[in-house]
Amino acid sequence: MKIYRARYGGVCFGVKRAIELALEAAKNTKPVYSLGPLIHNRIAVDKLRKRGIITVNKITDIRNKGRKVIIRSHGVHPRILARLRRRGFEIIDATCPRVRRAQRYVQKLIKEGYHVVIVGEKDHPEVKGLMGYAGKNAEIYSEQMKIKKRKIGVVPQTTLDLGHFNSAIAHLMERVIEMKIYNTICMATVLRINEAVRIVGKADAMLIVGGKNSANTARLYQVCKEHKPSYHIESAEEIALDWFKDAKSVGVTAGASTPRAQVDAVIKFLKKKFPH
Ligand code: SF4
Repeated sequence: MKIYRARYGGVCFGVKRAIELALEAAKNTKPVYSLGPLIHNRIAVDKLRKRGIITVNKITDIRNKGRKVIIRSHGVHPRILARLRRRGFEIIDATCPRVRRAQRYVQKLIKEGYHVVIVGEKDHPEVKGLMGYAGKNAEIYSEQMKIKKRKIGVVPQTTLDLGHFNSAIAHLMERVIEMKIYNTICMATVLRINEAVRIVGKADAMLIVGGKNSANTARLYQVCKEHKPSYHIESAEEIALDWFKDAKSVGVTAGASTPRAQVDAVIKFLKKKFPH
């Protein structure tokens, strides 16, 4: 079986940086608390726990004062940062520099008097953070929104699909007089999707490796399954051999929160089961 491995796939720069910062912090003081999973990947989170990085869902779950708390690559609402400071936690801010840039653009737009429109998933932590930096003069884009302001500033979630952003811009363009756009979509996302599209054209089936709770892995899966039989797996153990009974080739890609070792394990499994 011919295997096509995506050139762009696996952990992105921002997630890798957050993990390195957390591991560094855990060298001297354990545990280090992460507000939400540091990476949307169950297997990787389990490994991190063994190295002293504990996931909590809210600040009140952290019992001990003076402990280290890591802010994930998504960033957080500034109110959360303020609460952590008030409670005396040592903050390790692993907000991805690209997310931080989006937060700064939001603040700039507000200062310049724009009504801010964030294009993204309303429950995504990054979007919640961006809304926090915008304050009251902001809303999340939806096709149904009533646009009352004449002057709007638009910022997308860094992992937004480019096509979705383009349609939102076209929709807004017809309804306002002045619009300022900052394109903060991260190239890590664009490259992964473009590469998946390139591979899916050549392969008979696709394997998309990554956490079931990872939005960008789920998007890669959606893109692939429109073209070829595609399977979203977290590890090689989930692979059923009859998925490939009619396939002569398989493409393997991975979301921005999938460690390289998990993709290596899938490739190794395929080479062993389909040696020719
Ligand atoms: S996808 Fe891009 S913006 Fe998001 S954490 Fe990774 S590098 Fe940063």
